[in-house]
Amino acid sequence: MTDCLFCGIVSGKIKANIVYQNDYVVVFKDINPKASVHLLIIPRKHIAGVLDIEPEDSAVIGEIFVVAGQLARDHGIAESGFRVVVNSGPDAGQSVFHLHYHLMGGRQMTWPPG
Ligand code: AMP
Ligand code: ZN
Repeated sequence: MTDCLFCGIVSGKIKANIVYQNDYVVVFKDINPKASVHLLIIPRKHIAGVLDIEPEDSAVIGEIFVVAGQLARDHGIAESGFRVVVNSGPDAGQSVFHLHYHLMGGRQMTWPPG
């Protein structure tokens, strides 16, 4: 999608601090981190948000969680704990409309989130 910031990161037109990528996903550091580990895992395919996930996307959604676990191990937060968060819509504060999973860890978090 031409006007999408995260499609720009996938295509390389927009610079990001990419830490991992494969055929399905790209992972980069959040530009405004809210924890010492704060990565964004996105599908290469443009999917605007949770409500736009189609049955045919199930493989990439599964891959996102496989990668989340591996990155949690690689970044040393598997034992201490972490969150995988998707914001959807105004009340949740979604600000970028290309599906992204926040992988956050490295500090104590509160529940419920604010
Ligand atoms: P959300 O509010 O859930 O839609 O999350 C969007 C996230 O994208 C925020 O945590 C931003 O800090 C992050 N973000 C926005 N632009 C960039 C960028 N160019 N590179 C990396 N992260 C970004
Ligand atoms: Zn996009």
